[in-house]
Amino acid sequence: MLVQTPNKARLDEDTRGVSVSFEFFPPHDDKMDAALWTAIRELEPLSPAFVSVTYGAGGSTRERTHATVERLLRETTLKPAAHLTCVAATRAEIDEVISGYKEIGVRHIVALRGDPPGGIGEAYTPFPGGYENAADLVGGIRRIGDFEVSVSAYPEKHPESPDIETDFDMLKAKIDAGATRAITQFFFDNRVYYDYVEAARKRGITIPIVPGILPVLNFKSASGFATKCGAGIPPALARAFEGLDNDAETRRLVAAAIMAEQVSDLHDHGVRDFHFYTMNRARFVYTICHLLGLRPGA
Ligand code: FAD
Repeated sequence: MLVQTPNKARLDEDTRGVSVSFEFFPPHDDKMDAALWTAIRELEPLSPAFVSVTYGAGGSTRERTHATVERLLRETTLKPAAHLTCVAATRAEIDEVISGYKEIGVRHIVALRGDPPGGIGEAYTPFPGGYENAADLVGGIRRIGDFEVSVSAYPEKHPESPDIETDFDMLKAKIDAGATRAITQFFFDNRVYYDYVEAARKRGITIPIVPGILPVLNFKSASGFATKCGAGIPPALARAFEGLDNDAETRRLVAAAIMAEQVSDLHDHGVRDFHFYTMNRARFVYTICHLLGLRPGA
């Protein structure tokens, strides 16, 4: 990788090449649509394992998620994964979405419970006649089709969870229902990820736990979002952005350096699968993938 750091403890001894996936969100308007498709076209030549498209809070982007996934299938060489949540819909409505994906040839769903319609912090109540939770949804998806199903994992504990054991119980329930990959909430301190994976392996969880990497395009909004999601902000990260409020260019370089450092350290610890929260922008993620050794068309 970037800097040779021998003698680091390795998580899972892994001699495979690097495999990446990219997450996008569906656009709200024409301008965002153009930005999304520019990003997709820039990242496509890196041949990601899959690209995923999020499902808006409260099921608010059902049509737009579907349309983006369909266009990815129709117009690109990429393998799309559609995010789906249990929020604000009956089983029948969600099953219809799943069957629709099956019909158009989608083979991968990222199954989530979703946040309460009132937002993070509200108590979650399953929708009447809807799927109870993410594990229940995974089971429903697997009954409808032979989908690959990815689910979430929270190295720093889900904010609603009383303790990490409850989180592991939920992750196990999702795996028992048929999930084959976990993608983590973003984190900035790699130690929490290493400890989490180690703790999961000790509990007999063997599926890949792919780190979700967030570029810090805007420190203020990233730290606000992190607080809501229960992701810690290491003091060093906050210090790195100090005094840069009016200096966009240095902020960008700092953000890229931090992301490179984080990914480099993960790679040095044996991690080979990376999921990037692209925020619909290609340049940062493309740069990091380049540093990881990926080349267009390779
Ligand atoms: P689960 O895995 O079902 O639960 C998370 C944790 O909450 C559990 O581990 C458990 O500890 C606790 N918990 C849940 N239910 C209970 C209960 N009944 N009692 C006690 N504890 C409980 N949101 C969207 O709206 N759209 C998206 O596209 C989207 N994509 C995401 C992708 C990734 C990779 C990640 C990490 C998150 C994503 N989210 C998305 C956010 C997610 O919907 C929220 O974090 C939501 O609050 C939890 O959904 P989940 O499937 O992760 O929950």
